[in-house]
Formats: sequence, C-alpha cells, structure tokens
Amino acid sequence: MHIDGTDIAAGQKALLEINVARLPSGTPIDLPVHVIRSKQEGPVVLLSGGMHGDEVNGIEIIRRFLSSNPENKLLKGSIIAMPIINVYGFINFARYVPDGKDVNRSFPGKEDGSLASMVAHVLTTKILPHIDFGIDFHTGGASRTNFPQLRYETADGVAREVSSAFCAPFALNSRVIEGSFRETANKLGKSVVVFEGGETLRIDPKTVDEGLDGIKRVLHHYGMLARAPKPQPSKFFQDSHWVRAEVSGLFRHKKESGKKVKTGQTIGYISSPTNDYSVKVKSPYDGYIIGHNNFPLIHKGDALFHIGTQNK
Ligand SMILES: [Zn+2]
Repeated sequence: MHIDGTDIAAGQKALLEINVARLPSGTPIDLPVHVIRSKQEGPVVLLSGGMHGDEVNGIEIIRRFLSSNPENKLLKGSIIAMPIINVYGFINFARYVPDGKDVNRSFPGKEDGSLASMVAHVLTTKILPHIDFGIDFHTGGASRTNFPQLRYETADGVAREVSSAFCAPFALNSRVIEGSFRETANKLGKSVVVFEGGETLRIDPKTVDEGLDGIKRVLHHYGMLARAPKPQPSKFFQDSHWVRAEVSGLFRHKKESGKKVKTGQTIGYISSPTNDYSVKVKSPYDGYIIGHNNFPLIHKGDALFHIGTQNK
C-alpha cells in the first residue's frame, strides 16, 4: 500500500501525517493517518472521525480502538484510521474549518480549492482509492444529541451488510447528500456508512462503547478479528422526521432519545420564561426518538425531536 509517498508493507503499521496547509502562524496542519496491515490479504476498512471538528465521540471511539493494539489481533486485511479529519475545527472546538465551510459538503474537493475543499481532496485522492468500505463517525450538531445509530442507503448492499454486522441500537435509511464524503465514496464504488451518537464537545460513554463494539463486530464479520462482542438487536427505521417548535420559549423534554413514542403523546413542553404560558409538544408519529435538542432556549421552528418511523 502506497499512501502520500510512504510504502506500508503487509504486516506493518505506520502513522502518516499528510500535510494539508499551514496556520497563519506558519504551523503546519497535518492529517494523522494510522495504517495497520495484516500479513494476510483481506478487506481494507476506513475508520474516520472528526470530519466536524467538535464531534469528539468519534475521535474517542477511534482512539480507544487504536489503543487496544489491533495490530496484534488483525487476522487479515488492513485498517486505515483517521481520528481527526478536520484538524482545523478540532483545535478551534468548531464544526467547520476557519472560513466557515463544511468539509462534509466540499467533496470531492480540489487541490487549489478552499481549506475545506483541500481537506476533502486529500481523502478523495489519497485514502478512498485504497479502501473497500468505511465507517465515518459523527455526533448530533448544535446541542442536539443522537441515540447511537447507523445511517446508510438501503439500496447499497455493502452498507446494508456492514450495518447488519455493526448492530447499532438504531439503524436508519438515509439518503446520500450532495457534496458529502459518502457521495464521493459511492461514485468511486466504495460504501461508507455513518455512525451517529451523542452531541458535540461531550464524550458520551454509551455512544463510545456502542461505536467500539460495532467496529469489532464488523471486523469480526469480515474475518479480520477472532473475537467481538455478541450481536445485539438493532431497530431499523425506513424514515425519519423532525418535530419543530410551534412557539418560542424555554424547552424541556419529557421523553428523550432512545424512547418509543406514540402519535399524540406529550414528549416535551415549551414555556414562557415570564408568565405561566406553557404548551405541550406532542409526537405527530408512532416511532422512536432517535435524537433530541438539549438546548433550553428555543425559537419557533427550531428542531426539537428527531423521530424514526417504520415503513408507512
Ligand atoms: Zn458530523
């Protein structure tokens, strides 16, 4: 395997640092890429986190995986692990790169494009050609938390197989978005599934455990690891819908992510901070809460609950 001028032979492990650009101070920004190769031929799996720099759960999941010495356990194939794709966002505790662009809407990227586009270009040209499939780790954005879930397009057979091996508590059919990493990967014939769990700038132990167990189950499924946690039931949702605030005010959730809800059931309240005005937030669907907003100050129209639903 040859990545960015370095040869990594079968049976070897390497930490590459792919230069993207420099900070205004002159400090180079390098993208860390761990490569772990077994002596035996097998699938090449990408584990990526921190595409949004403030989504630390994925960074922690990959850190935990790498600290478990996978090089001593890998029976076949290779792992490419990129814990922090958006180093710029990570050092600024921010989702985007400093010019405000989203790396995950900047694919396939350009060598001489914007900062986000340059980061995307590194992945598209230097990493994607090597992999068979990938798992990209994310969290909810802007104070919204997600119950641990795998997102993929059901028409994609490899993604379906990876999801079924992963056994996240929830799995969700999710359309590929233009300019996303998944879209570019798909165009190159590679499947990427997205793991979502927890919220930004907060490590959620349940999410980290689910992510780590899922990686091990997937590697075990493809014969790359001898052992993995037992499979567990995964609830699949064909569709999902946001419940938005009908008024502005102080928001409290009564039901939280992971819970089953029925149509018409009260799942939260929005109250006026200055008088006794209060409205109930009711679920318009039968389903499960797959994500909810933890921010207490709500404008009319803000997203409050994300509800996963079965086939209609
Ligand atoms: Zn994200």
